[in-house]
Amino acid sequence: MNFPVYYTLKVAKSKIAGMGAYATCPIPARKKIGSLGGTLTTIRKGRAAAKNRTTIHLVEFEDNKALDAATNGNDLRFINHACEPNTYMRIRGYHVEFYALRNIKKGEELTCHYGETHHEGKLKCRCGSKNCVGFL
Ligand SMILES: [Zn+2]
Repeated sequence: MNFPVYYTLKVAKSKIAGMGAYATCPIPARKKIGSLGGTLTTIRKGRAAAKNRTTIHLVEFEDNKALDAATNGNDLRFINHACEPNTYMRIRGYHVEFYALRNIKKGEELTCHYGETHHEGKLKCRCGSKNCVGFL
């Protein structure tokens, strides 16, 4: 599988949690940023591997398969969850594509709303947005 990233990102300490991915140039609204790199696995194996991680690097598909972005991943895995994000995720086959939700300025940290996660609301959200729902 091929996982292109169309914009050069800078991985640096996040304002939210751990490491984050920052735009190194402006990204116009709706542009495809890239496809999350990873290794295709099953949901069961992926969850077992993700158990001791504090960040979410596992994307689950409907047919019991999952993409483990911690193995063979790319910079897109450093995109943190936020309740008011500037990117969105779209699943196409086994590809997890990221798009700009609005115009993103150079130096902005990229964020995405993860949707349902295997943390089932137990992981505290630290996105800092005014409308933060508090948990993932
Ligand atoms: Zn939040």
